Amino acid sequence: MTDQLVPRIQLNDGLSIPQLGFGVFKVDPGETERIVSDALEIGYRHLDTARIYGNEEGVGRAIAASGIPRQELYITTKLWNDDQGDAATVQAAFDASLERLGLDYVDLYLIHWPTPARDRYVETWRAFEQLRDSARTRSIGVSNFLAHHLERLIGETGVVPAVDQIELHPYHQQPETAAFAEQQGIAIEAWGPLGQGKYPLFEIPEVTAAATAHGVTPAQVVIRWHLQRGHIVFPKSNRRERMAENFDVFGFELTNDEVAAITGLEREGRVSAHPDEVD
Ligand code: NAD
Repeated sequence: MTDQLVPRIQLNDGLSIPQLGFGVFKVDPGETERIVSDALEIGYRHLDTARIYGNEEGVGRAIAASGIPRQELYITTKLWNDDQGDAATVQAAFDASLERLGLDYVDLYLIHWPTPARDRYVETWRAFEQLRDSARTRSIGVSNFLAHHLERLIGETGVVPAVDQIELHPYHQQPETAAFAEQQGIAIEAWGPLGQGKYPLFEIPEVTAAATAHGVTPAQVVIRWHLQRGHIVFPKSNRRERMAENFDVFGFELTNDEVAAITGLEREGRVSAHPDEVD
């Protein structure tokens, strides 16, 4: 299995991103280097981390040890809520993330949450534009922005994010935000793509029937559903065999009916915090 099989999604800034990657939320800092090294050996080239995960150093060590040329990797990190603010504040937080990662640029930098109670995301976004102009982040985007946050951001700055990384899995597909993003040319990154294991997704008949029909696992069906819906995904696992399973999703294709049946599972089943309430 190699990264050659992973399609790339074209972004609105002219750059592109591997559609399948590996996420490291809740990967223990002490184990991150080993786990990310496993992921790179399996073939993952797109890694999604964040300052608040506390494991940027481990990600950086795994990258350095891998010997993989930097241009073959796609690295995302995120600005934490406390670091929203003026250009100097954002720049300092960004520099610290780069330092921990041991990199001289990232491919994508995201505002982690809108945190509307702070009311600083528009100012923060202007600082993101400067970071992108300095080429130390190639693309800039947001995370957990609902349609109304995106609307305000774009309305006040005229700069459209390249991606919006939102909670998205079969029970919670955020149709309103996804439709607004599509209309604006913003790519959707689906976090918690497997529902974070918080509901029995792998026992739902629409999922298990497709798994049986294609001779694959329910997790592979759900990842394949995301890919065929056009989402960028980076499922997380600490277990090497599951990392390999989650990457082995290019040998089959769901039918349109199977995709539609899983899309039909939507029920506003958020498993994590509401973006208007996180501070
Ligand atoms: P996920 O949906 O990827 O679920 C991960 C869990 O699913 C694992 O801990 C494991 O228990 C289970 N799992 C994984 N592979 C499996 C398999 N093949 N079979 C059975 N079970 C399996 O949840 P996530 O880690 O929260 O989301 C993925 C990534 O999204 C994160 O690692 C992180 O990079 C990103 N994320 C971003 C935000 C944000 O606010 N921007 C929030 C959460 C996660």
